[in-house]
Parts: sequence; C-alpha cells; structure tokens
Amino acid sequence: KLYNQVQDLKGSIRVYCRVRPFLHGQSSYISSIENIEQGIITINTPSKYGKGQRSFNFNKVFGPSATQGEVFSDTQPLIRSVLDGYNVCIFAYGQTGSGKTYTMTGPKQLNEQSHGVNYRALSDLFHLAEQRKDTFRYNVAVQMIEIYNEQVRDLLVTDGANKRYPCLSVPDASLVPVASTSDVFDLMNIGQRNRAVGATALNDRSSRSHSCLTVHIQGRDLTSGTILRGCMHLVDLAGSERVDKSEVTGERLKEAQHINKSLSALGDVIASLAQKNPHVPYRNSKLTQLLQDSLGGQAKTLMFVHISPEPDAIGETISTLKFAERVA
Ligand code: ADP
Ligand code: MG
Repeated sequence: KLYNQVQDLKGSIRVYCRVRPFLHGQSSYISSIENIEQGIITINTPSKYGKGQRSFNFNKVFGPSATQGEVFSDTQPLIRSVLDGYNVCIFAYGQTGSGKTYTMTGPKQLNEQSHGVNYRALSDLFHLAEQRKDTFRYNVAVQMIEIYNEQVRDLLVTDGANKRYPCLSVPDASLVPVASTSDVFDLMNIGQRNRAVGATALNDRSSRSHSCLTVHIQGRDLTSGTILRGCMHLVDLAGSERVDKSEVTGERLKEAQHINKSLSALGDVIASLAQKNPHVPYRNSKLTQLLQDSLGGQAKTLMFVHISPEPDAIGETISTLKFAERVA
C-alpha cells in the first residue's frame, strides 16, 4: 500500500532517494526498490514503528547499483536551466555515512567515473556554454562556504576574488572566476583543505556543518546585448542523525541543536513552497537566509535524500523518509 505520495509534486521541487551499497553485511530492512522511474521504496518496519511494510514514493529512487553517471543524467536538465537564467538548489540530505558527500563530490579516490554532481555540473555547464558560444558569452564564477553553528566561513580564500556579481548570496565570500573544469577541480581542493584546516579536535566536523558550492553565471546575448544571470547552489548538508540529548553536552550539544534547527528550518521552507503557502519562513536559519533567492519563485529545487541499507540505520531512515515526505 502506498503510505504517502511524495510524487505529486507541485512547482519545481523534486525529491530523489538514493540508497548506498552495503558497507558491511548483506541483510537489510529494505524490502524492495522499484525501478528508478517509479520511485517506490518499501521498507520492513520493526514493531517499534508498527510492524509491517511501508512504501514511500519519490520522483525517483536510485538503488545501490546506480552509478554516478546515472544519478547525474537525471540532474542534468536542471543544471542546464542555470544557463537559461534560472536559480537552482541541489541538496544532499541524510544521516552521516549515508552517501551525501559521495553524491555531491565522489569518493576519496576520484576517477573519471566516480566524480559527483558538483564536478559534473560544472563540466556540463562549460560544455554547454561552449556549444552556445556563437549566440551567448558566459562568465562563470564560484564561491564555497561552510555553515557551522550558524556561522558562515569562506572556503575559498584566494587572490583573484572579485565581487562583481549581484546575485551574491554570501556577499563577503570570495567569488572566483573559473574558465574550465580544471580550475574548478583546483578550487574544490582548496575548499576541502580549508575545511580540514578549520576542523578542531572534534572529529569529522564536515558531518556537522553544511557546505555549499555556489556557481554564478552571467550570460550576454551577443545579438541583443541582454544580460542573463543564474546561480546554482550545491549543498552537502550536515548529518541529519539525532543525538541523544542525555548523552551529549557542551559543544557537541550546541552543534546538534544548530543542525537540528537549520535542517528543520530548511524542511519548513521547502514544505511551505511545496504547499504554495504565501508565508515562507526563510529567516529561521542562516542556510535558508542565504539561499532565499534560490528557493521559491522561479527557482528549481532538487533534494537527494540518502539512505543507509544496514539494519542499524532503520531509525534514521524512517526520520529521513518522514522529512522527505514533508518537503514534497
Ligand atoms: P556522508 O557524506 O553522508 O557522511 P559518505 O558520502 O562519506 O557519507 O559515504 C560514506 C561511505 O560510503 C564512504 O566511504 C563512501 O565512499 C561510501 N559510499 C557512499 N555512497 C556510495 C555509493 N553510491 N557507492 C559506493 N560507495 C559509496
Ligand atoms: Mg559527508
């Protein structure tokens, strides 16, 4: 039975689910994944959640064997619309270890096949801009920031930054012009390094901050002289797992509260956009404030929700699926 209908999406909010391959073991609470297009995932729920089966319906579901290329090919049209002047947001949501960074960036050892959405998106934009060069002249510039405890940090502190683009969502962050995928690759490495440098003794801070790669595009129509602008935010969100408040204190508790607050603020914003609610609560978190211009209106949003297949993940999977259900 269909427990929810995530599929009948209004406007331009789409939700895709991606299940990563097993990291250990083989048994799973996932009972079936219907083909990509149908987008139905069925899970066996333990008694704690009302024993039985529940199905969730997404715009698409990518199973463990889906390749980076397959995932990207479905994202491509959205990315291409940036060159036509649309604003786009792509989010990776899920508990730590569920594959968010894999989807957006790729594994640690990258090769041609394993690049994630970020690199593929930029590479595709350059490719398309080149194809249109007789009619349009495009400038591309990127920013990379991290939001940790509601504070924004610039991850691209390099020379050559400029602030020409009006579409700035993070006015003070370095905006670096790029002309090729190798420029982007270098910047992504700088960003990763800066992220690591900022990390304290707290292990793996990356799972407790949101990171956002923003691509600004300015295109000039060579015949009419009209200028068109678009921007795209590629966001690797902080891990959505709930921490046990009785077990953490101090910094860790503060982090958890900030993450919780900002993820629910994001959920609230997308849910009210999906429901065409006239009041959209952008002001409740740094993340939604920064992305305000690219969420709602003509903008297009894609949320990848990630799921770990191992049995111990079921509790987090259920909250992830419920989050997804709300934003659709
Ligand atoms: P997150 O960013 O959500 O914490 P990661 O992207 O770091 O999770 O993924 C956790 C581990 O699982 C990493 O070792 C990653 O390489 C691996 N992994 C995640 N998704 C996939 C996938 N689709 N195929 C193969 N390995 C994956
Ligand atoms: Mg990660």
